[in-house]
Amino acid sequence: MRRSSRPRCAPRRSLSPVSVTASQEQSVLDQVPRQLYIGGEWVDGREGTLAVEDPATGEALVQIADASVEDAKRALDAAVEAGPSWANRPPRERGEILRRAFETIVARADMLALLMTLEMGKPIAESKAEITYGAEFLRWFSEQAVRIDGRYSVAPNGQGRLLTMKQPVGPCLLITPWNFPLAMGTRKVGPAIAAGCTMVVKPAQQTPLSMLMLARILEESGLPPGVLNLITASSASRITGPLISDPRLRKLSFTGSTEVGRKLMEQASEQLLRLSMELGGNAPFIVFDDADIDAAVEGALIAKMRNIGEACTAANRFHVAAPVAQQFAEKLAERMGSMKVGRGTEDGVEVGPLIDATQRSKVASLVDDAVSKGARALVGGHARDGAGYFYDPTVLADVPEDATLLKEEIFGPVAPVRAFADEDEAVAAANDTEFGLVAYVYTRDIQRALRVVEGLETGMVGLNQGMVSNPAAPFGGIKQSGFGREGGYEGIEEYLETKYVAVNLS
Ligand code: NAP
Repeated sequence: MRRSSRPRCAPRRSLSPVSVTASQEQSVLDQVPRQLYIGGEWVDGREGTLAVEDPATGEALVQIADASVEDAKRALDAAVEAGPSWANRPPRERGEILRRAFETIVARADMLALLMTLEMGKPIAESKAEITYGAEFLRWFSEQAVRIDGRYSVAPNGQGRLLTMKQPVGPCLLITPWNFPLAMGTRKVGPAIAAGCTMVVKPAQQTPLSMLMLARILEESGLPPGVLNLITASSASRITGPLISDPRLRKLSFTGSTEVGRKLMEQASEQLLRLSMELGGNAPFIVFDDADIDAAVEGALIAKMRNIGEACTAANRFHVAAPVAQQFAEKLAERMGSMKVGRGTEDGVEVGPLIDATQRSKVASLVDDAVSKGARALVGGHARDGAGYFYDPTVLADVPEDATLLKEEIFGPVAPVRAFADEDEAVAAANDTEFGLVAYVYTRDIQRALRVVEGLETGMVGLNQGMVSNPAAPFGGIKQSGFGREGGYEGIEEYLETKYVAVNLS
């Protein structure tokens, strides 16, 4: 197996005006491992290398390892080998490793935030928020590691006892998307480590650098070789297919699109793998006429513009009571129109580039479709010329029912607004989608709030707030947004099996 010592970096051009200097960027990139992490060693990929791009410039940032099928199998070998001793490691020690990693991430938040902005594009302040959010999963699950318990009870007929214990599922494959490069990883890795599972992690090829740093930090925090193995590749299916069909793998946890999730479920049926599926969304944001409209606009900005609209939880459709729809749309347009668009490293930038040209074209065609069917752009409606994949924050009013963007996940800074006549119409419109991840509701009427919350077909609801994500809460969806929960008390259950022992006392 080939091994290299220090990673190489291509010189990067300086961009002006910048708040972060080119040498600061280079220094951050120099700290990132570029190889595969297998069995506690950093090794080259047998397929060579692949480039990671800066979406604000379209330029390559670094080259990282491209894994072969053989590399992937070696990663699973390492996870399988480390499995028994890791499962037997005292929970307190597993928790302490997570706790040390949490503290290291917090201490290195500035470096990690800049790295995330370079690979993903979001403004530095948002990257910092994700670093904090992502690190919190490690703290939360460091605390949960010592709370794995079972039950002992008397059988109903009094004869015998029922003993129930929890055990780690075993080797897991964890596949993550590009939109939250760290947090989508820590909310799988944290509970898997806490539960005593070993794993192979496959981050998105567009944003692998934050996860490579996480692997390095866990290594420095004392995670034993083979517990976490990380592989990066230019073809996801090439390396994940053979792992999913390997009978030694016990679980697949996937965050990404519904389309890919479906394919993976099909593959996973061969070995009947335990599955967690965190898939796409199409979140409705409902504003009733009794709501505090200014608060609803502020909540809408968070629900829509966090992560440049590239979040599974992003508000995809705004359903607003007819008497206040125009006022809401105009206020939202004013706020979104004043947001500064640019490279995430620049001072004051609130909206970075989209991840790539394909994503930007998809956003543009959804907007064009809505406008061609009668929607009015109150602000935005255009891609930006020049380098990078920028799209202007856009508010669309009078969006017709047949506009495609009401049905599909936009994944960009576009807010379509539609008016509704009454509560029943609002709930029916909100539920008129195959997705069911999250919904947002703004109203000051507590009875209406609870009625509507109960009627919404989603795994999560933001009630008078534009963000639901919280490491202590169960994150996840229903319908075609998937199943399984990440975070909260439920998060660790995804990595535990229940064993029941029938005890004969006679
Ligand atoms: P994606 O295309 O489904 O990719 C997600 C991950 O799966 C990446 O690591 C990707 O690798 C890998 N992948 C793609 N095709 C694969 C295949 N045939 N076999 C095995 N792995 C494969 O999704 P994305 O564009 O990165 O992420 C955006 C989607 O994620 C959105 O739909 C969003 O709603 C969803 N998401 C959901 C949640 C949630 O918690 N519900 C959270 C965040 C994002 P490559 O990078 O190599 O293609």
